[in-house]
Amino acid sequence: MLGQKTNLLNDLRTALSGPVLEPGQPGYDEARQVHNGFIDAAPAAIARCITVADVIDAVNTGREGGFEITVRGGGHNVAGRAVCDGGLMIDLSWMKGIYVDPRARTARAQGGVTWGEFNRATQVHGLATTGGVVSTTGIAGLTLGGGLGWLMAKYGLAVDNLRSVEVVLPDGKLVQASSNENPDLFWALRGGGGNFGVATSFEFDLHEVGPTVTGGLLAFPIDRARDMLRFFREFTSSLPDELTMFGGLVHAPDGSGTKLCAMLLCHCGSPEQAERDLKPVRDFGTPAMDALGPIPYTAQNAVLDAGFPRGARNYWKSNFVASLSDEAIDTMCDQFSRCPSTMTGLLLEHFHGAVTRVPVEATAHAHRSPGFNFLAASEWLEPGDDSTNIAWTRETFDALKPSFGPGGYVNYLGGDEPEDRVAASYGPNYQRLREVKRRYDPRNLFHMNQNILPA
Ligand SMILES: Cc1cc2nc3c(=O)[nH]c(=O)nc-3n(C[C@H](O)[C@H](O)[C@H](O)COP(=O)(O)OP(=O)(O)OC[C@H]3O[C@@H](n4cnc5c(N)ncnc54)[C@H](O)[C@@H]3O)c2cc1C
Repeated sequence: MLGQKTNLLNDLRTALSGPVLEPGQPGYDEARQVHNGFIDAAPAAIARCITVADVIDAVNTGREGGFEITVRGGGHNVAGRAVCDGGLMIDLSWMKGIYVDPRARTARAQGGVTWGEFNRATQVHGLATTGGVVSTTGIAGLTLGGGLGWLMAKYGLAVDNLRSVEVVLPDGKLVQASSNENPDLFWALRGGGGNFGVATSFEFDLHEVGPTVTGGLLAFPIDRARDMLRFFREFTSSLPDELTMFGGLVHAPDGSGTKLCAMLLCHCGSPEQAERDLKPVRDFGTPAMDALGPIPYTAQNAVLDAGFPRGARNYWKSNFVASLSDEAIDTMCDQFSRCPSTMTGLLLEHFHGAVTRVPVEATAHAHRSPGFNFLAASEWLEPGDDSTNIAWTRETFDALKPSFGPGGYVNYLGGDEPEDRVAASYGPNYQRLREVKRRYDPRNLFHMNQNILPA
């Protein structure tokens, strides 16, 4: 078997446009690292694909050689699903093609593109679609899991803007998935993650956005945290579609360790409408940090970048919140006062507008209720601090459980979630996802993900 694997990798090396990296080779260590520094896995080989044919060859090699296959888009998955010990990583991070059709208002982008690259290309034409709020996140993993971002109240999730996806299936066949071609697969790809094949490119609808929006953040002294979160709860109950807001407890970006409470937002309407809509936010109090105002859309999607440096150790716990009670707010504040890392934040991402008007069964992404997505995003630098930070994150999550609705956001799930929590994150769509999985990947070749078991 070992000889067969070696032969298959040699054949792949001959065929591939990019390198096939093995341990010890130049570039291997850089290529196996993902965003989360907590993940330290050593694959048997990394296939750096450049063309669609490369991806097909890599999938065939992985299947025929009996390799564990992982797929890397932007490498941001906190659970570290893009890489595993001894497996074959199909690395799309060199597949950077982006084609914008400004007349049709569409863009097709390959699986290794990040949101920063995508926004830069579409903003040349004053266009955008909903994407991640940190520019280094990959379009592939984010979109396949749903894709929340600053435009979601106006234009829905990333999946709600997908027109088609080009996919390499487990048998190496290349297919298109859209509402006309393989519609069952298209439905499943819009929230079902990397369970069905390797997505080589994505076609999105675009909308007129920017180039300047109103955005950024206002932060207040931490002793205003309870008041601010209550204000945030009331204010978000009647927001216009143009305004998407997050609220949370964070640490000052200057590294001082100062605790703050903050409202982060993006208003994609006219400056006049933004000024009117944001008056209550401006009137809330005297900010400790005022970084709210006109901002290029591309910069808006990089405001949080510095808070999520590549290589920092991450452990996240997250769940949708059914109702943000005063008790839940108190719990967040109490827990945050004991937070062991000055890089960590507790966030509430608010859902309303277009994202909540899509029926639950229309796409595989099932979370369509107005409300909040709670995220404890723990980050730290030293391996010696792992257990303290993980324990605090779990404790915070457990303390908030009474407020949780069913399921979390599949893209935020960690690597240690029990199977029933993964299933709960697919919500009422899980059974249908299992049936599509049986049709397209009955042997579960693609299982290094938030896995859907074939029916
Ligand atoms: C700092 C940070 C900010 C984030 N911000 C947001 C946000 O604003 N909105 C949001 O919705 N999510 C956000 N996320 C979560 C993000 O959606 C997930 O981490 C997602 O998995 C990242 O996709 P990726 O391609 O970068 O990751 P990867 O780790 O490369 O991929 C994640 C998984 O997706 C699958 N996959 C990736 N590419 C492909 C492909 N081409 N074909 C098939 N399967 C594939 C694989 O199973 C892979 O293991 C954020 C995460 C981080 C760490």
